[in-house]
Amino acid sequence: MFVGHYGPSFAAKALKRSIPLWVLCVAVQLVDVLWSIFVLLGIEKVRIVPGITATNPLDLYYMPYTHSLVGSLFWAIAGMIVYRIFSRKPNKWVAGCIVGAAVFSHWILDLLVHRPDLPLYDNVHKLGLGLWNYPALAFALEVVFLFGGMYLYLRSTKPAGCGGRYGMVIFGLVMLVVQAFVFFGPPPSSGNAAALTALASYAVFAWVAHWLEGKRAQRSRTQDPYGLLHSDASRRPARWGSRLGSKNEVLNGPAACSVLVCRLAPISAPAFLGSQVGLADRADRF
Ligand SMILES: [Zn+2]
Repeated sequence: MFVGHYGPSFAAKALKRSIPLWVLCVAVQLVDVLWSIFVLLGIEKVRIVPGITATNPLDLYYMPYTHSLVGSLFWAIAGMIVYRIFSRKPNKWVAGCIVGAAVFSHWILDLLVHRPDLPLYDNVHKLGLGLWNYPALAFALEVVFLFGGMYLYLRSTKPAGCGGRYGMVIFGLVMLVVQAFVFFGPPPSSGNAAALTALASYAVFAWVAHWLEGKRAQRSRTQDPYGLLHSDASRRPARWGSRLGSKNEVLNGPAACSVLVCRLAPISAPAFLGSQVGLADRADRF
């Protein structure tokens, strides 16, 4: 799978808005980014065998470090920890877990389309459902995953100008053209050429996604009645601020809690003391 991998990145962005879209775009392709680097370094192996599948000529005969189940889980955990360390946003562990899941989604989607070349560990017990041998079905899967995830993202945001209105959909269509070229165009001249092309594509896609993300704004809470899309603490300050005082008041979670306690204290303290006194009175009677 190629552009279909970006579906989970858009879906994850809709779920957890504090994570930059470019991070998720790199996360869903991290396994392939590492594969490209490892191929160029000669650590993993690929050769061009025209006709080995109906849609692409890659014989991925040795990639234990990136595309084994164990390897993918390792990179997913690594992605989670790295995001947790470097993120300055709230809810780092939740966001880190989502980034890790995005990394691992690569292996799951690859499992659908690859011929049996995905090892469980090392270079043995290889799996792959082989949908690359059914071009129409494989291409339809790419479309469904890409635009399914993009739909969730577009629904959770709103355009901020003309670029924001059409840019992301045009981006998706351009990615599909690239996908069609990979499936139906001429084969790459070598394994290294395939790795270099993949690496450049992933860098460009992540940059364009980041650029287009800036052209869309988050939707208001009223358009997300279940609160699923606004669970970030980064969304809370305005809400806390508008309820507790000035609309421009920006508070983080603990600060907002302390203000809330201060505001409620005059009301709740006498009531609490009263209840204690009442209990003491009743205790005295026994
Ligand atoms: Zn892959």
